[in-house]
Amino acid sequence: MKLRNQLPRVFSIVMTVLFAAASIAVVAQTRPARRPAPVRNRAITNIVREIDARNIEATIRKLVSFGTRNTLSEQNDPRRGIGAARDWLYAEFTKAAEASHGRMTVEKQSYEQPKAARVPEPTIITNVVATLKGSQPEATARIYVVSGHYDSMCNTPVDAKCDAPGANDDASGTAAVLEMARVMAKYEFDATIVFMAVAGEEQSLLGSTHFAEQAKQKNWNVDAMFTNDIVGNTLGGNGVRDRGQVRVFSEGVPSTETPAEATTRRSVGGENDSASRQLARFIKETADSLVPQFKVMMIYRRDRYGRGGDHIPFLERGYPAVRFTEVNEEFRHQHQNVRVENGVQFGDLPEFVDFAYVANVARVNAASLAALAWAPSRPMGVTILSQRLSNDTELRWEANKEPDLAGYEIVWRDTTAAVWTDSKPVGNVTQFTMKGMSKDNYFFGVRAIDKDGNKSPATYPRPQMRNP
Ligand SMILES: [Zn+2]
Repeated sequence: MKLRNQLPRVFSIVMTVLFAAASIAVVAQTRPARRPAPVRNRAITNIVREIDARNIEATIRKLVSFGTRNTLSEQNDPRRGIGAARDWLYAEFTKAAEASHGRMTVEKQSYEQPKAARVPEPTIITNVVATLKGSQPEATARIYVVSGHYDSMCNTPVDAKCDAPGANDDASGTAAVLEMARVMAKYEFDATIVFMAVAGEEQSLLGSTHFAEQAKQKNWNVDAMFTNDIVGNTLGGNGVRDRGQVRVFSEGVPSTETPAEATTRRSVGGENDSASRQLARFIKETADSLVPQFKVMMIYRRDRYGRGGDHIPFLERGYPAVRFTEVNEEFRHQHQNVRVENGVQFGDLPEFVDFAYVANVARVNAASLAALAWAPSRPMGVTILSQRLSNDTELRWEANKEPDLAGYEIVWRDTTAAVWTDSKPVGNVTQFTMKGMSKDNYFFGVRAIDKDGNKSPATYPRPQMRNP
C-alpha cells in the first residue's frame, strides 16, 4: 500500500497486525485486535499546536535588540553584543526548563578558541545547551540534537562593531529551537533531546564543531542532529513567495565513508540511503502526517551549493544530520551592513522575517524530534543475505532492547523512488524473507515499532556475504 498521505490509516492497520502477531505468533491467523488510537501521536499533535509564532517573534526581536551578536563582539556588556544574547538565552532556556521538573538542565558550554582565520585573537565561544533527559533507561543514552546559531555578522565576520541584527540568520533558527524547548520541556520522552544555541557559526562552525567533538570524545550516541539556519524569509531574491514548505538538506554518501564501504556501495548501491537521507525521509513522512499544512522539500545535497552549516561537524564525526533552510533566499538581507542604497533596504532586519513561517518550520522540527525520541532505536546490524542467488530477499537484524518494542516493519521502494512507498509489518522477529521480491529490483529497509505505534527511521541493510 502507498504510504504517502495515508500514514494514519496505515499506522492503525500496522499496529493492529503487529499486536496480534506478537501475541499469536502466526501472522496468517491473526484476528484484528482492538487498539485505541495511538496516544503519542495525539501528544505530537498537541506539541505542534502549542508552538506559537508570537513567542518566536518576541525572541527574534529580543535577539536583534542586542545590536550585534558577532562572535567577536562584547561579552560583558549586558545590553549590546554576543554576551548579552548568551545570558538572555541562558535565562530563557532555564525558564523553559522549569516545566520539566528537573529533567531539563541548562548549561553554558564554553571553550577558548585560539587565533584562527576569522578569529583575530583568542576568543571564548559559548554554546547554550538545554538537555531534556530521556525517561526510558534503554533509550536515555540515545540523543537527538536540534540547533540554531545565535551569532550574527554584517559584511565581514571580523567586524565586531557594526550593527548585525541577524534576524533571519540566525535568530530565526535560534527562536525556533527556544520555542521547541519551551513546548517540549513538559513532555516525557524515551530518548534524550538537546536544544542548543551555538556561537561561532560565522567564524567557521566553531561552536557546533566543539559540541560535536565533545560528543565524539565522550562516545555519545547522537542518533540525529538538525540545524535550523535561515528559516524565516519567504520572499526570495528571485521574487518567489513560498510560505508552504521548507528545504531539508541531507547528504547521500556519508562524509565518513571508508574506502571499503565505498567498494561495497558500488557493488550493491546505497548512494541514496545514508542514515542522514533516512532521517530526511523520516522528517518528510512525519511532516506529511502531523504538520499537513506544511511541506518538506527534500534536497539531495549536504548543504546549499558550495556552502556549509552546523550539521557538517556532526556528519564529519559519523552522526546523521540534516539542515533546515527556507526555500528562496534573499541575499540583500544576509551578511549585509544595514543601509539603504538606491531606495533598497539592505540588512538582516526583523521586518523581513515571516514569523508564522518560522513557527511552521519549528513544528516540523518538533514533531520529528518527538517522533524520534518516542520511537525505538532504528534497528542495528541489518543485513541482506547475499551469499546465494535468489529471487527472494532475506533480511536479518539485531533485536532492539526497548521493553515497549512491538516489532518490526520491512519498508521498500523502487530504486528510483524518493521515499519509502510500501511497508509490511513482520512481528517481533529478527529475520524475514520477502518472497519473490528481488533485492536487485527494490531498495529495502527495516524499522522498529513500539506498542504505542511509534516508528523508528528505517535502517538500510548492508550485504552479509556469509551465512553466520
Ligand atoms: Zn547562518
